[in-house]
Amino acid sequence: MELNRRDFLKLSGATSLGFVAMNTLVFEGKPAYAKSGIVLKKLVRETTTTCPYCGCGCGFLVSSDNGKVINIEGDPDHPVNQGAACAKGGSMRQLAADNPYRMSTVLYRAPGSADWEEKSWDWAMERMAQLIKNTRDKNWVAKDGNYLVNRTEAIAALGGAALDNEECYLLSKMNRALGVVYLEHQARI
Ligand code: SF4
Repeated sequence: MELNRRDFLKLSGATSLGFVAMNTLVFEGKPAYAKSGIVLKKLVRETTTTCPYCGCGCGFLVSSDNGKVINIEGDPDHPVNQGAACAKGGSMRQLAADNPYRMSTVLYRAPGSADWEEKSWDWAMERMAQLIKNTRDKNWVAKDGNYLVNRTEAIAALGGAALDNEECYLLSKMNRALGVVYLEHQARI
């Protein structure tokens, strides 16, 4: 198609106006949701957090209203996951303290029993401490040949990505003091 000078100016003008119109549509100063048709009824508090489940460290946005978590979704601004979430991270809402399905008491099923019994936290701590001590005493290895080793090979400790530095430090100390040599971390597996 051949364009003379006048046609060229007309076309340039029309194209520029088109861009202005498009820019007006896209950058009209309204938030993106205004164009989505979703009507937001009220503002809620939004905070960022990190997924506690694994070592990838995906970022999430937590929306809360009146102190209650009402939504958790992948943070689009987070460099690791850019808004995405795996099935496990996507179900993080279940961790919220106000989740009615979250267990709040200790349930114990005795060996051979088909029934669960409710127990107190004190009872559970006592029971775990006793079992750890029994296992350690029964499987203590003081010497390996001529070497003094002082360890138990019957207990293993597995840390989780939800633990912070200080908790990892304390758990490692406690396990070393108990003579546990099998110390692992979920994020390394
Ligand atoms: S569990 Fe899933 S969402 Fe959570 S940090 Fe790991 S990959 Fe990311």
